[in-house]
Amino acid sequence: MSNSLSLLAVYAHPDDEQGVSGLMAKYARQGVNTGIICATRGEAGEIAPGTHATPETLGQAREAEMRCAAAKIGVRHLYLLNYRDSGMADTPENQDPRCLYQANVLEVAAQVTRIVREQKPQVMIAFDAWGGYGHPDHIKMHQAALMAFWMAADARNFPEQLADGLETWAPSKLYFNAWPRSRFRSFVEYLKAQGEPAPDWLEAFAHRALPDEVITTRLDVHEFVDLKIESLMCHATQLGPNTMFRRIPESLWRDTLKVETLALAESRTGRAQNETDVFEGIV
Ligand SMILES: [Zn+2]
Repeated sequence: MSNSLSLLAVYAHPDDEQGVSGLMAKYARQGVNTGIICATRGEAGEIAPGTHATPETLGQAREAEMRCAAAKIGVRHLYLLNYRDSGMADTPENQDPRCLYQANVLEVAAQVTRIVREQKPQVMIAFDAWGGYGHPDHIKMHQAALMAFWMAADARNFPEQLADGLETWAPSKLYFNAWPRSRFRSFVEYLKAQGEPAPDWLEAFAHRALPDEVITTRLDVHEFVDLKIESLMCHATQLGPNTMFRRIPESLWRDTLKVETLALAESRTGRAQNETDVFEGIV
């Protein structure tokens, strides 16, 4: 595969990238120029017991964890946008003026556009319109990624970037990193069969995750499952006892890591169906 290929994932928090860690590793190994945007340092999240982070040091700790996770999967560029984590919807953190939720979406899109014009990805990956599960930062980055996908190609947008020596760039495809609803249903069913109630957030996923038929692209990443787990383990401050993989048996959980799923959302190269490679149709 030509190493002029480039892939950019647009995310909000350290660990958001885990849904595509296998394909990132796979393409990085093939020489594809890979990058991840991480808009915040996840400062508003819960701290897993047994780790040494405090609310004051959490941003710093999570930046280090994100760098560890990105290095494991061979990601070449990690872009931090320096917004503050907004926390879950309707929490007081949403009001912090430094947080991503409070940021002007056009300013966020300008930053993503600048990175697109620098890195020149043919393929972008972002959250869906619901941000996977409604997190306000995920939704904001969905919007910014979608705007950047179209705006980066037009010289009338953010001309100061062109004055800085950048060129316009038209990515070919934008995918949503979308887990099929059936995956969450299988977790709910497993917990119910054990006589355990499924947590509310899991029920919400099982109802609101994209329907299976929306998935256009399935990547076989079975050979990267161990590496994916190593990369996940970098995020130590996020791995508390309620984390999914601590509640679901390893066999079921490992099984779901073997395939990564995407839904083609925006395209300059036509539609996609049953793809196994995100660069399909790109010369
Ligand atoms: Zn997140």
